[in-house]
Parts: sequence; C-alpha cells; structure tokens
Amino acid sequence: MDNTLYPSTDKIETCMNHRMITFISQFTGLSYEEAKKERLDRLPHYGTTLEWLQKERNLTDVDSYFNFIHPESETKEISYDPKLRRFLLDLSKTYHMTVLTNAPMVHAKRTLELLDVYDLFDGIYDITANNFQGKPYSKAYLKPILEKNFTVDETLFIDDHPKYIRGYNHLGGKSVLIDAENLLDIEELGEATPYAKITSIYDLPTVLRTL
Ligand SMILES: [Mg+2]
Repeated sequence: MDNTLYPSTDKIETCMNHRMITFISQFTGLSYEEAKKERLDRLPHYGTTLEWLQKERNLTDVDSYFNFIHPESETKEISYDPKLRRFLLDLSKTYHMTVLTNAPMVHAKRTLELLDVYDLFDGIYDITANNFQGKPYSKAYLKPILEKNFTVDETLFIDDHPKYIRGYNHLGGKSVLIDAENLLDIEELGEATPYAKITSIYDLPTVLRTL
C-alpha cells in the first residue's frame, strides 16, 4: 500500500522515517544521528523497525510506537490522486485486490480512505493480523492468499521494497517492484529481483498483459 498506491516521492515517506528515528532516539536515549545509524545497521536483520525494537531493545508498548509514527495528521503528507479510483475500479472488475501492509490498521484505513479506494479491496492484512511478523515472513503472504482461496501461482505481489519482494520470491511467486524514482538497479537485486519493475501503479496493466 505505502509507496505503491501513491508515489514514494510523497512527503509521508520522509516524514515517517523522521518520526521513526525520533521515536528510536527518545526511546533508547541515543542521539538522532546515532539512532539513524543504528536503525540502518540493524533493520536488515528484521522485517520491520518495530520488530528490531521489540527483539533487541525490549520495546513492549506497541501502541505508543504506532501512535507516534502514525499521527492523525499523516494524511496531510499524502496527495490525493483523482485518477486512482477509476484506475483501480477497472482493475477490480478482473482481479481480486488485497492489501498486505506492515503498518497498523489505523494507518491502512486512513490512507485508503484518503485515496478513496478503501471499498475496492477485498481485505486488509495489517501487522497485527500477522501477529507482528509481517513481510518478509512467508506466513504473512500466505495468510491472505490462502484465506481468499487463491494460490501463490495465481497471485501477483506488488511492493516498493526489495526485502519484501525477496520474501515473496522465496515462495516461488511473481512480484512487481514499484520504484518511482528509478533508484534500484535490477541487475543488483539478486534474490530480490522482481518479475517486473515499474515506476508507477499505472504501469501495472502492461505487466498483467504478460502473464
Ligand atoms: Mg510499501
């Protein structure tokens, strides 16, 4: 959902990262710069920043973490795209669309409502639905697929993050990487090499035609 239904160039990406580092700094007592460095260093070992803090830093108050990272005002950081609803509505006539996010439900609902596409998805699997073990854990992808009575073969997974593409690749599934700024070199992605790389959700029909 994040950085896929809206571009990663929207303000929220920078603002959310800033809030995460600020939270880590306040929670651990590290300076902002130290917290930033520590996160960069430790995050590759975990699915999410939250999981790292839970496992290595004994964070237990998950609500205070999410409330800090996702304040109500975050909607001001995402721009409304008047073309998105029409586009997804057309896709929803042919495909089942499900949201799999490592964010909490409150953020998912808020974002989908802001974009006016909440009703077009047949389900939202947030981080609590996956018991805080979201992407890239296999179970996180399999839960929505199996609950909706589909198979990995029938499912296209779309994300902006190579780590989460890698997780779906491990299941033998086809994934699409959305790289709005064309920052990632497909030759260097290794196990995170997607089936296709596009710069915007609007390029998805081109990929779907190849399946
Ligand atoms: Mg994302």
